[in-house]
Amino acid sequence: MIPVTCLAGRDVAIFGLGGSGLATARALVAGGARVHAWDDNEAARARAAVEGFRVVDPSAADWTRLDHFVLSPGVPLTHPEPHWTVRKARAAGVEIIGDIELFCRERARLAPNSPFVAITGTNGKSTTTALVAHILRGAGKDVQMGGNIGVPVLALEPPSMQRHHVIECSSFQIDLAPSLSPWIGVLLNLTPDHIDRHGTMENYAAVKERLVARARFAVVGADDSWCEAIVHDLRRAGVRVLPISSRDAILAGGARAEPAGGSGARSEAADPIVDLRDARALRGAHNGQNAAAAWRVCELLHLPSADIARGVRTYSGLPHRMEEVGRVGRVLLVNDSKATNADAAEKALLSFDDIFWIIGGKPKEGGVESLRPLFPKIRKAYLIGAASDEFAATLGDAAPHEFCGTLDVAIERAARDAGASEAREPVVLLSPACASYDQFPNFEVRGNAFRDLARALIARAENT
Ligand code: ADP
Repeated sequence: MIPVTCLAGRDVAIFGLGGSGLATARALVAGGARVHAWDDNEAARARAAVEGFRVVDPSAADWTRLDHFVLSPGVPLTHPEPHWTVRKARAAGVEIIGDIELFCRERARLAPNSPFVAITGTNGKSTTTALVAHILRGAGKDVQMGGNIGVPVLALEPPSMQRHHVIECSSFQIDLAPSLSPWIGVLLNLTPDHIDRHGTMENYAAVKERLVARARFAVVGADDSWCEAIVHDLRRAGVRVLPISSRDAILAGGARAEPAGGSGARSEAADPIVDLRDARALRGAHNGQNAAAAWRVCELLHLPSADIARGVRTYSGLPHRMEEVGRVGRVLLVNDSKATNADAAEKALLSFDDIFWIIGGKPKEGGVESLRPLFPKIRKAYLIGAASDEFAATLGDAAPHEFCGTLDVAIERAARDAGASEAREPVVLLSPACASYDQFPNFEVRGNAFRDLARALIARAENT
């Protein structure tokens, strides 16, 4: 834990007592602050009370007696409209911040030049964060990884000059961290997302830009026009920018990626910086971008190239993101349950050629129409869940498909057909392009179910 000593003796209200809220409460109390905690959820309040935190209803509180207000990143700060607690705090002149801000303030006191890497972007945050941490650990470094991935930032060990903090930041967390100034800031890419919470794409991009604007070094993916504009802004402002591109990687099949959209701020002729031909867990052009960013970060941290290359090769990937579960004979079984929309599923479809595709769930707006150019790669689609009729209509004559209803039926039939096919490297791919809520509580449970079913198929094949 990182005791938050910078607010010792102050009155601090916390709204939202999930994992990061509770970790913040513990860190504040350990540092000597008086904490007033609240959550709309009764069970969360009960958990806080059991730990001995003062649970205080903010609607009845005297806000003029508070010094700081720590808001959960899940609660609207600006859009669609500020939460009522935000209005109260503003009216009383109480500062509104989040846990990443408290981390930055403690770092400024303990080790202002410590190797703190902050990572954001619309997509690829978790992969890049986990990859950087993996490479650094493999090179024998003291690494603390967390933030928007895994462990809340204030539950990590405190900053020091020898300790690397590799922290994933969402746009909501950045919005609550006015003094965020990492040693290395990484902004991977920007596409429209969370506009309901930021109002406009311009606002969303401006929030993301703040993570790199005050970094000692800014590593920015230059494959989309929003990030390209940010590279120019930063250069004009005198920030040391290192643009990277998915083109900087040699991909699994030996090709260099052609990023979609944007001319890219790196010269087309630049040498590739990362070779992914042996990196099983980093397939696809999108992972080229993630790996190129990770490579630049590790170079800036003075790691020898051999250590970085080994880390890239041995990275085993995150669950539910093109996770290779195993093989039944020639058939590769891949769990990409995290692909809850067509954009994410596109990345998986681009990464394989002979695809036995399990899709469906609770459909998102637009369905899978945008994936039409990739339908020729689909040997057959296996439809599950609420989206089945809609997706069958979209697939039409363009790709063979059948209704399977549930995941267990779909994987069984897909593996059977894939095994009997002439394809060179058949892949049974769960990349559902849908939310999971119609049949599963979340994408993790759906992915775990796929993995269990896949392992059972593998075990059965091994025993026959
Ligand atoms: P995040 O943490 O930003 O949600 P993840 O690393 O968990 O990102 O990846 C989630 C999904 O986003 C992946 O399964 C893949 O479909 C897609 N993705 C990953 N990296 C990128 C990237 N650099 N560009 C575009 N899409 C990506």
